[in-house]
Amino acid sequence: MLRYLFLLVSLCVCLPNSIGQGEVPEIDWAELQKTEPWKESEQWEPVPVKVAPAQWQGGPPSDAIVLFDGSDLSAWHKPKYGYGARMDQVEAIIKQKVQNPEWSDAEWMVKDGAMIVKPGSGAIETKQSFGDIQLHIEWLSPEDPGKKDQQYSNSGIFFMGLYEIQVLNSFENATYANGQAGAMYKQYPPLVNASRPPGEWQSYDIVFTAPTFAEDGSLEKPAAITAFHNGVLIQNDAELWGPCIFIGKPHYVPHPEKMPLLLQDHGDKVRFRNIWVREL
Ligand code: MG
Repeated sequence: MLRYLFLLVSLCVCLPNSIGQGEVPEIDWAELQKTEPWKESEQWEPVPVKVAPAQWQGGPPSDAIVLFDGSDLSAWHKPKYGYGARMDQVEAIIKQKVQNPEWSDAEWMVKDGAMIVKPGSGAIETKQSFGDIQLHIEWLSPEDPGKKDQQYSNSGIFFMGLYEIQVLNSFENATYANGQAGAMYKQYPPLVNASRPPGEWQSYDIVFTAPTFAEDGSLEKPAAITAFHNGVLIQNDAELWGPCIFIGKPHYVPHPEKMPLLLQDHGDKVRFRNIWVREL
């Protein structure tokens, strides 16, 4: 017993020296009270604007623009030209959307508080245009055991109609990594696969930063994306190479500062609900 006591006392005596006591400068708090130098690094203005968070997790905060609350497609329509599979298509579509935008009513179905892709009816996009946004969106890839790869409950969310984060059943469904759920399509695979099984609701929470272009049309700053899938970080400030396309290598094409958000019709009855954005 005595031996243990001796050991304990020795430890207490030796420990302070072993972690470098005396090497950290002392602060004379009494002296500093006279000048209060900590105030030099305090910022008081501007006071951050108050935003009331939603009553429920994932709901729209007070300053959100609600794009779909489960009731109707009034915030959406069907663009004459959706998105491009190749850069030459992308360029032509941007030109059309800027010079001669045309659209008709969105044909997707609304049922049980969700909007459902109507296969073959085409992509839908928001009537409002956006640049930098925070987006919350929930989606469900229906169970369809006969399907696989890119054909298993595919859709997509295209920021500005150009930059796609993939929506797909990627729970147990092999496909190319930069084409699975949460991928910035054919550019960045998700950092991890946080997929829930098909038939279950999932969420994306995303910060999208729009690209900026100089007056001569050259790229100033690429688009960037940070995304959480079911609360798990899957894209961390990933800088895009240009629009997300199916064929070929992307490059930036100058476009307006704000453009509509687009949801893809890939032929599958994917559902979406609780969609809101905050402009940044
Ligand atoms: Mg897709």
